[in-house]
Order: sequence, then C-alpha cells, then structure tokens
Amino acid sequence: MKPIKSRLFLDRFLKYVTFDTQSSEESETYPSTAKQLELSRYLVSELKNMGLHDVEMTEHGYVFATLLPNVRVHVPTIGLIAHVDTSPDVSGANVHPVINKKYKGGDIVLKKDKRQIIEAELNPALRDCIGHDIITTDGTTLLGADNKAGIAEIMGALQYMIENPEVKHGTVRVAFTVDEEIGQGTKYFDVEKFGAEYAYTIDGETAGEIEDETFCADTAFITIRGVNVHPGYAKGKMVNSLKIAAELLTKLPRDGMSPETTDKREGYLHPNSMEATVEETKIVFLIRDFDEEGLHEKHGFLQLLCDKLSKKYPPANIQLEIKESYRNMKMILDKHPVAMDNALEAIRRTGLKPQKNLIRGGTDGARLSFMGLPTPNIFTGGHNFHSKKEWISVQDMEKAVETIVHLCEIWAERAL
Ligand SMILES: [Zn+2]
Repeated sequence: MKPIKSRLFLDRFLKYVTFDTQSSEESETYPSTAKQLELSRYLVSELKNMGLHDVEMTEHGYVFATLLPNVRVHVPTIGLIAHVDTSPDVSGANVHPVINKKYKGGDIVLKKDKRQIIEAELNPALRDCIGHDIITTDGTTLLGADNKAGIAEIMGALQYMIENPEVKHGTVRVAFTVDEEIGQGTKYFDVEKFGAEYAYTIDGETAGEIEDETFCADTAFITIRGVNVHPGYAKGKMVNSLKIAAELLTKLPRDGMSPETTDKREGYLHPNSMEATVEETKIVFLIRDFDEEGLHEKHGFLQLLCDKLSKKYPPANIQLEIKESYRNMKMILDKHPVAMDNALEAIRRTGLKPQKNLIRGGTDGARLSFMGLPTPNIFTGGHNFHSKKEWISVQDMEKAVETIVHLCEIWAERAL
C-alpha cells in the first residue's frame, strides 16, 4: 500500500477542530445545538467536492454519503460512522491545537495554562509515541479529537481510495451523526436508509484497539412507602421511609459491586439518585454487568433486600421496578463474527497488534447493533477524551486511516 500522506487527514482534522460543536444536555431541540450543523454542512460540501454520491444532510442533521464500489462482484455494503459533536463537559470554542513535533518522552506542559500537564506516568500510551508528533490543546479547551479525529480519518481514507483506484472496495456508506455525547446520537438514525450491512464507529482511543463489548445495563427504581403522621403524635404509628432507605443503602457491599471498587469485567449496583420525604423515598439504581446473568444476580440481591426490609417494617411497603437500558453489543456481534474478523485483520495489516477491549458504558455502536446494524468501535488514536488534556499522535491517526482503507479492501477481497 502506498504511504498515507498526512495532508489527507491532518489538515482536515486541524480545520474540523476550529468548529465549536459542543452538544448540550439541557436543550430540548434536535440536534441539541444548532452550531453542530455548521460542521455537518461543511462536511456535506467537502464530500460533494470529493465526488462522493448521495451526499445529504438529513432533517435531523446526520450527514450521509456513498463511495461507489470499484469492483463488479457483490461486496456487503459497510458503513463508517463518526460524530460531529464534542462533550458538554469542557468548552470546545476557540480550540487552538499545538503540535509537539518529535516527542522525546516526559510530561507535556500545555502552553496557555502551565498548570495543565499531560503526565507521562498517567499516560502510559505516550511511551509508545516517542518520536511521534503529538497534538494537544493549549490548555484552555478540549481538543475535540473525540470525534473529529474519527471524521478526519474517515475522510482521509475516502480521499485515499479515490486517489488510489487500485484499492478495490465495495460500496462504502458514511455517516456523521450529532448529539452522541449526550447519548442521543442514534435517536433518528434510519438504519434502513443508511443501507449498510455492517458498520464501524471510528471513535475509540489507543492505536490498535477495537471494542466489541459494552455493558448490559438496567435501571432499578425502588419506592419505599412509609407512614407519615404529625411527629408530635407519631408514637407507634410513624414509619419513616428515609430511615428504611438509609438502612437499605448500608446493606450494600462495601468492598465490591460498586463503580468505585470495580473495573474491567466486573459489574456493579450503583445508587445514583434519591428523592425522599417521610412518606415516600425513591431511589434510582444503575445496574451494570457484561452479561445478563450478572444483571439478574444483582436484581436478585436487590429484591431480597427490599423483601427483608418490607417484612421488618410493616406496614411500610417497598416496590422494586426494573427497566432495561441497553445490552452488550457482543450479543449481536458474536452472531456476525465477520465484522470483527475483518477489522482485526485490517489492524494487523498496519503492523499493529490488535487489542480487543470492552467499554464500561454504552456506545452508539451498541444501539445500532441492536437496531440491526452490527457496529464495533475502532480506535482513533486519541486519549483523555472530554478533557483539556486530550491528545493524539499524528502517526497513530495515520494508522487509523490505514486501518480503514485495509478494512474496505478486505471486505472486497473476501467477497471475490
Ligand atoms: Zn466519541
């Protein structure tokens, strides 16, 4: 494969980060902020100029486009997906990226706020980037590599395939979504119209990584109904629901089953919010695990607690209601192993060692997978997303572009 020139993705990335595309949790509109659409419109014109087909911005602000196949045999249509918005946590206005050429190792002090230091010790991935050109912020905003690096890498790969027709590929569909950071990225995503059989979000972190697992997530609503009477005359009558709630919370394990005591493949049972009066207390729990069996164990634990306390404090009444939030996308992806196999091979062909990872959360890819479009998540090369200490290596971005090109090629190769 001919080398990937940095003009294909780096110039684009530096342009995209100048757009402030922060989404907002507080908004009632879709997309949550109109400024996201400025980047979407810019991408539409860029895709048109590159000669892609069916370029459009949908009424909800998604950008769709098609790269036509250059082989005659039928190759499954694959989708490449990234999101235009940046996190509501940190400002994305007036981003001034700094390129630290030929990184020599050690901490990186950010230019405009010297208190902001990307510490080598806390960023083990930096060790693999000695000699790379590292892009950081100036310390006053986020960088927006999440997910403008993904957009730039997809655009770079498309440009590369247009310029190098010897790379054989089937139909490639592209989607740039909005409002991903507030969990709404696929709300109006029309899977049928998109028309891909398999897709990839380019929204992961460390070079070489690919994610095919997310949490299985449920939400539990506990309602404790006590008995309220005038406190001056409450003897033998009042049952205070706050006190039952407090007792329930102290019965949770101290050394496990919580977000603060678990990592990797462990799940948790997490009291997330509470509304309380003497009469009635409502507690919302987040329940997380990587399989449904683990979820059900946690449901059982909670149910037992509620039953015991109900018995202990009559006539108080405790109800537990469980609602499904989302499921591990591996349940879907395991039924379509070809999606992962081809991506792992694409990463291998870049010379990187593919690393399968799990996401302790949900992703748009997980939702799309359950909407009928199996969608693993491929690395962008970015780190410290949603913070002023965000950074990305230019050489790792190049590997991401290369991975996408190989991926398109492998799908065609394996269909021949
Ligand atoms: Zn992202």
